[in-house]
Amino acid sequence: MLYRLAAQSGAGPRTLSQPLGGMGAVCDALARAAAAAGATIRTDAPVGRVLVENDTACGVLLDSGERIAARTVISSADPKTTLLRLLGAEHLDTGFVRKVSHLRTNGLAAKLHLALDSAPRFTGQEATALGGRLLVAPSLDYIERAFNHSKYGEYSAAPAIEVTVPTVCDPALAPPGGHVMSAVVQYAPYELRDGWEAERVRMADKVIEVLERFAPGLRSQVRACELLTPLDIERKFRITGGHWHHAELAFDQFFMLRPVPGAAQYRTPLPGLYLCGAGSHPGGGVMGTAGRNAARHVLAKAS
Ligand SMILES: Cc1cc2nc3c(=O)[nH]c(=O)nc-3n(C[C@H](O)[C@H](O)[C@H](O)COP(=O)(O)OP(=O)(O)OC[C@H]3O[C@@H](n4cnc5c(N)ncnc54)[C@H](O)[C@@H]3O)c2cc1C
Repeated sequence: MLYRLAAQSGAGPRTLSQPLGGMGAVCDALARAAAAAGATIRTDAPVGRVLVENDTACGVLLDSGERIAARTVISSADPKTTLLRLLGAEHLDTGFVRKVSHLRTNGLAAKLHLALDSAPRFTGQEATALGGRLLVAPSLDYIERAFNHSKYGEYSAAPAIEVTVPTVCDPALAPPGGHVMSAVVQYAPYELRDGWEAERVRMADKVIEVLERFAPGLRSQVRACELLTPLDIERKFRITGGHWHHAELAFDQFFMLRPVPGAAQYRTPLPGLYLCGAGSHPGGGVMGTAGRNAARHVLAKAS
């Protein structure tokens, strides 16, 4: 709840919304705006190290061996990647390194994507309800029980699920008549006791079974299915632990404590190095508030 409130305190819309063209369209729009302002965007250019001179960040070294000099380095990679891997503990105090190492960054949610050949029909819901968020979370006890399994390295057989159908707002995201369904499935531990390779398909099947209780016939509408576990999210999006907020949103990792004291105002202990991603206040989601706040700090320093 705090996250939602913090995320809405900026200039952005006060309700959650779906962009036309999907989330990728937001990235494209940002890229166009950045290019128009004179930025050069390089993709497929992984950074191997943050370069340091006189205890100040002075650029980055790409995996390709190319060095890029800079007065300021601003990283949206997760805090553990930025501070422990790209910068390195040797540039930081032991106490600070311990805090970053102890940051809880393991993801607990899986993402299920379904390509459907027609609109899902949820019992008792008007078709227009599909344009919002549908929750399978009948009670607090249900959510508590769904969470219990994750403590023992299991996923829940009765998960809490948040469903959206983006094609209701933007039919162009699927072939004519088709739909895509996107579901956040709570809770899926990063480390599954039996390993995700053996269980990924079984979990997807289980989630579809639960959804079918609310949307009869759903299984027969599925043309393609993808389940991303926290491990997949880690590998696919280079996020340590596969948490889509880069670090748990909990009281001890929120507000002036996010990600850790000593780096909570986007500045890191190393002059010239800033954090601007989901690991910073107020967390992730496609809203850009952490990035905007970080930019203000960098500009204030420059002026
Ligand atoms: C499957 C999935 C679905 C989601 N759906 C939604 C949604 O519908 N709506 C919503 O609001 N939010 C959604 N989120 C959450 C949202 O995408 C994230 O919170 C948000 O992208 C965080 O933005 P960011 O820029 O801080 O970090 P990221 O988007 O994680 O960007 C960090 C970037 O740094 C790159 N990187 C890491 N290491 C290096 C390196 N060494 N060198 C160069 N680059 C590096 C990564 O590849 C990545 O591109 C979703 C997340 C996931 C995983």
